Amino acid sequence: MTSASQEHETRVVDAAPKKLYINGQWRDARGGRVLNVHDPSTGSVLCTVADASPEDGRDALEAAQAAQKDFAAMPPRKRAAILMRAFELMHERQDDLAMLMTLEMGKPLAEAAGEVAYAAEFFRHFAEEATRISGGYQTAPAGNARFVVRKEPVGPSLLITPWNFPLAMGTRKIGPAIAAGCTSVLKPAELTPLSMLALAQVLEDAGAPPGVVNIVVTSSAGQVMEPLIRSGIARKLSFTGSTAVGKKLLEQCADKVLRTSMELGGNAAFVVFEDADLDQAVEGAMLAKMRNSGEACTAANRMFIHRSVIHEFSEKLAQRMGQLKVGRGVDEGVQVGPMVDATQRDKVKELVDDAVGAGAKVVVGGETGPGEGYFYQPTVLRDVPREARMWTEEIFGPVAPLTPFDAETEVVDLVNDTEYGLVNYVYTNDLTRALRVAENIESGMVGLNQGVVSNPAAPFGGVKESGLGREGGDTGIDEFLETKYIGIAM
Ligand code: ADP
Repeated sequence: MTSASQEHETRVVDAAPKKLYINGQWRDARGGRVLNVHDPSTGSVLCTVADASPEDGRDALEAAQAAQKDFAAMPPRKRAAILMRAFELMHERQDDLAMLMTLEMGKPLAEAAGEVAYAAEFFRHFAEEATRISGGYQTAPAGNARFVVRKEPVGPSLLITPWNFPLAMGTRKIGPAIAAGCTSVLKPAELTPLSMLALAQVLEDAGAPPGVVNIVVTSSAGQVMEPLIRSGIARKLSFTGSTAVGKKLLEQCADKVLRTSMELGGNAAFVVFEDADLDQAVEGAMLAKMRNSGEACTAANRMFIHRSVIHEFSEKLAQRMGQLKVGRGVDEGVQVGPMVDATQRDKVKELVDDAVGAGAKVVVGGETGPGEGYFYQPTVLRDVPREARMWTEEIFGPVAPLTPFDAETEVVDLVNDTEYGLVNYVYTNDLTRALRVAENIESGMVGLNQGVVSNPAAPFGGVKESGLGREGGDTGIDEFLETKYIGIAM
């Protein structure tokens, strides 16, 4: 490691905010608890951060409640200006934000810098949406009344984010909340709180009034959030995380009938037909599989390759995967960082061992390491039998399992044979088949001859047990708006 990068690491960790951000104040947790933040590439502790108690959570929600009325009344253009300034500040601070993210989460610096830009884009997108909230005015069919329809902010919102995209999963919720005029309490994943605290600093510097966004870091997610969900103060929960936790939260939300947006797990299929451009498909597979080292709900989890091309595809993919440089994300040229923690690394190992035990062949990789951190080697498996656990469980790691198929109808059934329905990827050069398959597969999103679908301007979300609602696009803001109809006598 060069001393320049060592100096940068120390500087960003020292400068990162480490307190709770409540009502525009940076403060310690009541009772003074702290939690450790680790560098997954070494396993060492980076720093400690205030660890909120349920009382801190309550303070944060009360701050959001107190700020709600004035914020809803703030002119849309002003709310947009806060978001646009935050977008600019994120670009100004891109290198430091990227370094902080790499240190706490592990992804390579170039990918972290890409996420900062992607995350900032949600602010720009929703800055533009903030001034386009529309309504309606019409005559009742019987001609005896007027209908006025307007959109109003839902109210104080609870936002819960995961560790895999520490910034983007936050801006994707905070952006539309601010655009719609909702105040919020955001709880980031405890593994990666630093990026979100740095984002709170960005929002403060961009002029977000006190109480509009509150950040509560805690190691007791359930104990802190459940009382807030059941408080009767919060009107909305937007959650990104596992399906298991999402289901539990939906039950809690039923108590006070909260609006919910749920971005849950996925089990994406990656289908390559015999008429596909194989080089393009390999390129797409590298993205669909290796973006974020496979730690994404959109990651290709099951790769169905037509029997006539599976050998060639597998050789090409294995060659690319085997060339990837694994290491600390801060080091020059590294393309694959560590898994976020030991649990995640062990889960990947368990799933690969299970598949191999069931008869899968390792083409490349298949091992943990190197070094002290939580690394797993980029891996390609062939002939993964359909009883292997990885066909039904999210791998969340750099493992590409391939299996052959023969017919279109067969593969469509295989793709749909899961309780999830977030995204699927399809490679074919036959236009009619492409559209037919895209229409017949059950998922909120389809990547057609492309390995990444996420875009702030497009509606991201799933069907079945992958979730409810959409983030981004022109519908993302609706998740934070209520429709009010005013009936007026003629
Ligand atoms: P992952 O598998 O990505 O870690 P989780 O669903 O466990 O997914 O976590 C996603 C987010 O949900 C994290 O911020 C985590 O702290 C939070 N979380 C986990 N359990 C609960 C809970 N019972 N109540 C509220 N939030 C929770």
